[in-house]
Amino acid sequence: MSDLRERLTRAPKVVLHDHLDGGLRASTLLELADEIGHDLPESTPEALAAWVQRQADSGSLAAFLEPFSHTTAVLQTPHALERVARESVLDLAADGVVVMESRFAPELSTAGGLSIEEVLDAVLAGLHAGAAEAADAGRPIRVGAIVCAMRQADRSLEAARAALSRRDAGVVGFDIAGPEIGFPATDHAEAFALLRSELFPFTVHAGEAVGPESVAQALAVGASRLGHGVRVLEDVTVGGDDSATAGSGHASARPHFGRVASYVRDRQVPLEVCPRSNTQTGTSPSIAGHQVTALRDLGFTITLSSDDRLWTGTTLTDEMVLLAEEAGWGWDDFRQVTLDALDAAFIGQDERMALLEHVVLPGWTD
Ligand SMILES: [Zn+2]
Repeated sequence: MSDLRERLTRAPKVVLHDHLDGGLRASTLLELADEIGHDLPESTPEALAAWVQRQADSGSLAAFLEPFSHTTAVLQTPHALERVARESVLDLAADGVVVMESRFAPELSTAGGLSIEEVLDAVLAGLHAGAAEAADAGRPIRVGAIVCAMRQADRSLEAARAALSRRDAGVVGFDIAGPEIGFPATDHAEAFALLRSELFPFTVHAGEAVGPESVAQALAVGASRLGHGVRVLEDVTVGGDDSATAGSGHASARPHFGRVASYVRDRQVPLEVCPRSNTQTGTSPSIAGHQVTALRDLGFTITLSSDDRLWTGTTLTDEMVLLAEEAGWGWDDFRQVTLDALDAAFIGQDERMALLEHVVLPGWTD
């Protein structure tokens, strides 16, 4: 397996779903907190990272969210935003990522007086600086930003306008994040209508805490990808069984696809799947029993991502190695999800084809 890990680390990978405020380095969190006199529960990077991961593993949503109060507290200045953005690019490039879409909710960084546009500009400056540095170090990486609005708040229209104002400066897409239960995507219909009218693509976190009905809402507002989306599997039944247990164990039974699952599979709507994050939030029982394997077998379009790297203590390579060890995934599966992720990335076709031909395909030969 160490040989596979080495090959996967080297292979050119694509990350579509990575949260800036969930992936900062523990050492950076400590230094930024120190600069503003913000108290943290631990005082070394190792202990702090372990604490965040314990919170994430605890099974309680309140505990899971607690570390975000600290990352949000430090991400209130252009300096901090730029630093964290720059480092995230370097960290992903070091893991062999060649196309990265970094997402963040600018509205969470306005408590110190910054406007949403100022937050965007700081993050974009950091992303571009990180990409330039990675290229200089021989690890070129294509970086785009996805602007998130929070489901439970009412600033999505403002965030959408800001995203559009920076669409030629590195913002490539839009998303809504935050609590799925009780806050349907349709609450943000005005923002999505604006984005559609401006022909600007977006993804929506859906099918993580809520099942197919939330996926249906995300599709109804026009999402072209789904953040997680794995609970769409609940809309597939096998052999007359209503529990969604489709998969290799039922190879002889013919699956029945409900309307939502049909739409997602037949139209090949890409799922941004973050396996370990899903096991932490209780969306999936384990890596071995993760919906992603059944979804792959059923012909859904799967991409793999790292979600909140500090919370999960993960990298995209780690996610792939776990799927190999615990769910039987192999090199060809990872090659396929990489090709599908490149296809789903919010980038222009000329750049996509150049990356495919010169970077991705040559890096995934056997
Ligand atoms: Zn996410």
